[in-house]
Amino acid sequence: MTDFKKIPMTTPLVEMDGDEMTRIIWKMIKDILLLPYIDLKTEYYDLGLEHRDATNDQVTIDSAEATKKYGVAVKCATITPNAARVEEYHLKEMWKSPNGTIRAILDGTVFRAPILVKGITPFIPSWTKPITIARHAYGDVYKNVEMQVPANAKAELVVTKEDGTEERRVIHEFATPGVIQGLHNIDKSIASFARACFNYALSTKQDIWFATKDTISKTYDHRFKDIFQEIYDAEYKERFESLGIEYFYTLIDDAVARVVRSEGGYIWACKNYDGDVMSDMVATAYGSLAMMTSVLVSPDGIYEYEAAHGTVQRHYYKHLKGEKTSTNSMATLFAWTGALRKRGELDGIDALVDFADKLEKASIQTIEEGVMTGDLAAMSTLDHITKVGTEEFLLAIRDRLEALL
Ligand code: NAP
Ligand code: MG
Repeated sequence: MTDFKKIPMTTPLVEMDGDEMTRIIWKMIKDILLLPYIDLKTEYYDLGLEHRDATNDQVTIDSAEATKKYGVAVKCATITPNAARVEEYHLKEMWKSPNGTIRAILDGTVFRAPILVKGITPFIPSWTKPITIARHAYGDVYKNVEMQVPANAKAELVVTKEDGTEERRVIHEFATPGVIQGLHNIDKSIASFARACFNYALSTKQDIWFATKDTISKTYDHRFKDIFQEIYDAEYKERFESLGIEYFYTLIDDAVARVVRSEGGYIWACKNYDGDVMSDMVATAYGSLAMMTSVLVSPDGIYEYEAAHGTVQRHYYKHLKGEKTSTNSMATLFAWTGALRKRGELDGIDALVDFADKLEKASIQTIEEGVMTGDLAAMSTLDHITKVGTEEFLLAIRDRLEALL
């Protein structure tokens, strides 16, 4: 390595370590691509399953509280325990999803965006820029109440108010059997979602699209539309205009048609169900889960960066058996660069922002020059491809990074 003065940091990043193959990658990224160049300051929380179990999951709560305090976190993928994991790790309890716990504490919205490289062509080839999906993570059909209804029955919505009075609407008079469903959402949650979306649009200088079915759902979906518009007009309009970015509202079916015809390059804010469905559609169309980044943004501007994929368990078991792995570290690496760039912006450390940019550039360049892990090698349209192992890939990035520094 050439003589390089390490980049200083002032505020620590909250570092949330994780499980299995991504825990292996985590350490490699730090050792090979970060520690030689940055005077890395982190406040370390071990969210690996053993330590979550040892602390009765307190470490997850502590890491989220630290994120609130410092403002930026980077998280490794973690196991969400199921019955098999309880046995495998001899857990005291089937601990809840760490991501769910952290999201609840930060009241955050998750934004997912693909990393685009030449040679991996999206199934929709006109998508030359990333489409970032933001999914509202509260309510609607995910917190529904459902019933089967027998024949000759009347179903009603009833709201009992604080003063005891009731408001009723007939849903349907059933002559023959059927089903009903009760949905709800909360103004406060919709407003948090709207603010997280507008903040993220400002932070990434991208347009934001939002869509509902307000022509059919004149009260429920219309409430989402109104809250977004009120918050936009009162708090964001001026800043959007001065940056030259746009808030665009349309009907959900029109949005889908426009998305397919678009070239990408915007944020698509989705209601909970739309986000569930569309995020899988968009991720698949861009080609690889291993190239999908994810960031949790709170309405007051706190950021937690991670990869969208899980702990890559199958590769980890190969690794444990001493076999060579070829696991793609791009999304985990971009979690680090995203967090370092944000920390640099907040603390006014230009060198840190510049380093994050160059590290991303070096990693994209590596793949575009044909050096890639097995998952990408299987889909790349480049002529000359060298399939490399997990660590070799990071070393190949380091060579290119050194040339850029
Ligand atoms: P996964 O870890 O995302 O992996 C599923 C498959 O996708 C892998 O077996 C692999 O396919 C491919 N893949 C994913 N990431 C890759 C990468 N970086 N490089 C190369 N290939 C990659 O999902 P899972 O196996 O269903 O879940 C494993 C654990 O992760 C579970 O315990 C789950 O709870 C957890 N999880 C955590 C998060 C999170 O922390 N955000 C998210 C999802 C899942 P091949 O095997 O065909 O190579
Ligand atoms: Mg889904």
